[in-house]
Amino acid sequence: MEGVTRHAEELLAEVPDWIWNHRSLPVPIEDIADSHVGLLVRDVEDMTTAPGCPEVGADGSISGLLLAGDREIWVNAAEAREWPPRRRFTIGHELGHWFLHRDAQRSLFCRHGTVDPDGGVTAGRPPLDPIEEEANWFAASLLMPADLVRRHYRRTGGDFDALCAIFNCSRAAMGRRLHQVI
Ligand SMILES: [Zn+2]
Repeated sequence: MEGVTRHAEELLAEVPDWIWNHRSLPVPIEDIADSHVGLLVRDVEDMTTAPGCPEVGADGSISGLLLAGDREIWVNAAEAREWPPRRRFTIGHELGHWFLHRDAQRSLFCRHGTVDPDGGVTAGRPPLDPIEEEANWFAASLLMPADLVRRHYRRTGGDFDALCAIFNCSRAAMGRRLHQVI
């Protein structure tokens, strides 16, 4: 995942100061997607209205999708209302697809279980598609930059709840990130 991390760090480094001062938290992920990368983020009630949306079946819903040709990220509006940190993670995940797997001919549809999945391996859950793992890693690297996580980990004495609040991330996402960078 080194290449993915480097990509995410390069993106953050390029963000101009008027969008983000590279210190304040949480990272303004939507402003970065919108004002820096030029992708419109839309909260959409019915994700199946996206052109080319696959059958989702009873087991899942679409959390986010990337319409590369239209330069749009769609976020599942119901999920976003219920779990605001998840909305941020989904935007970061779709940004990962934009930088790592973009193909103007193809739209990417990300199911609930593939975006910011709960930590450990859920019994019976098949391993994620490698591009979904990469998009999750990219999102974590953007939302929880390694140097800032280490700084605030030291400052708070490793206060897990405080870190989740400061970075506005889910407990699952922060738990995984601490394993990666501390
Ligand atoms: Zn995805």
